Amino acid sequence: MDNQKLWQAMLGSLEINLSKGNFVTWFKNTGIIEKGGDYIIVGVPSTFAHEWIKNKFHNHLLKSLKTIAPEVREIRYHIGNLKPQIEKQGTLLQQSEATSKNTVVYKAVESSTNVSLNKQYTFETFVIGKNNELAHAASLAVSKTPGSLYNPLFIYGGVGLGKTHLVHAVGNKLLASNPRLRILYATSEKFTNDFITAIQQKKLEDFKKHYRQVDMLLIDDVQFIAGKEQTQEEFFHTFNELRDRGKQIILTSDRLPKDIPAIEQRLISRFEWGMIADVGAPSFETRIAILKTKLAKAGIILEDEVVNFIAENVVNNIRELEGALNKILVYKNMSQDPLTLVKVQELLESLTNNNKRKSVTIKKIAENVAGFYSVTLEDLLKQSRKKEFVKPRQAAMYLVRKELNSSFPTIGEFFGGRDHTTVMHGVEKVDKAVKSEDQIKKELDLILERIYNG
Ligand code: ADP
Ligand code: MG
Repeated sequence: MDNQKLWQAMLGSLEINLSKGNFVTWFKNTGIIEKGGDYIIVGVPSTFAHEWIKNKFHNHLLKSLKTIAPEVREIRYHIGNLKPQIEKQGTLLQQSEATSKNTVVYKAVESSTNVSLNKQYTFETFVIGKNNELAHAASLAVSKTPGSLYNPLFIYGGVGLGKTHLVHAVGNKLLASNPRLRILYATSEKFTNDFITAIQQKKLEDFKKHYRQVDMLLIDDVQFIAGKEQTQEEFFHTFNELRDRGKQIILTSDRLPKDIPAIEQRLISRFEWGMIADVGAPSFETRIAILKTKLAKAGIILEDEVVNFIAENVVNNIRELEGALNKILVYKNMSQDPLTLVKVQELLESLTNNNKRKSVTIKKIAENVAGFYSVTLEDLLKQSRKKEFVKPRQAAMYLVRKELNSSFPTIGEFFGGRDHTTVMHGVEKVDKAVKSEDQIKKELDLILERIYNG
């Protein structure tokens, strides 16, 4: 057994027991760099990863070694940047090309070209909402009777909304019932690059075999063949041959066929032959459902107000939702502190600030109130009960309660660890004042104006 296989086998049982994010966090860029008579040297990328693996997983790794390679009795670690060495052996875990920079989702990369499907993307892990129910239903139908019903199936919609997930799900489902099927997944960029390479190396026959002798062809992000005439020509023939033989084709794109610029009319019309289904942005309810599903899978429990905060503020797509969850996961792995609303708001600050919609956090409200009354944020958080601090502090608590509907303990925690009864008292006091004094009402309106439009 070579080093890479051995390492994969050792990690196999861990991978099942750990959440995906957790697994990837600690075992990304690790590998066996040397195997001696009775020892192995495991390369890890940082002292941090080293500490964790040694403390948390060492015994488990030893145990699995006992069954896989009983002659090995010792695991040593080597810290350093192992990427080049590991890459030579075939990368074990690699950052997914499609993830945004905020995201720490990684996926396993299979070495065999035949296995181009991501096993994580299944119908079981796909949450259905109004935004994707048509695309989901069409995909499911195709997976039951490929090649006959909708051919091609064309799924379109914005980034991070589940197109890639769905096409893999179809492939995975078919493979589960018939492992011998040849299912090929490729982005249109890969198709293009393979085609160019084939021309350069005079291996067009191999290329044709590769793409045409399949039972199902999944071409992701087909819009990228726009403007590439020769590739379009080749794709046209690939498409026709497969379809004539009753082989299913699924295409995805960020827009409708007719809206793809610089693409041949004959391709457009073929893309429109079968079924066109869109995926849209998920509603608030669907975002909640997705979050809850993924949290449960990762074994994380969060208060409802925290889940609501994420769903309210991470609105653009599901990939960003996963990015948010990954941040939370990484934090949870490193810290024992509870994942309170305040903590989560802080963790997701960069994500939520990117959104067009104004995202308001407790901190943001507190800062604006402090600024308005010419005190500092620290003044609001410290224990002093001087009148000049108490008024803005209570005003800030009131606004947080009103704008974010945060719980009293959450607000107390943020404002210097105060008791929830203190918060209730403060909020009530301001509430009364607002009703009887015009002045305070005006002040708070001005502050809100700054918070939302400043
Ligand atoms: P697209 O291809 O449309 O850009 P992806 O399929 O790559 O989007 O989805 C982005 C991420 O969001 C993936 O990790 C995917 O698993 C996840 N995702 C998308 N839609 C759903 C869904 N409905 N349920 C669960 N996860 C989803
Ligand atoms: Mg995609």
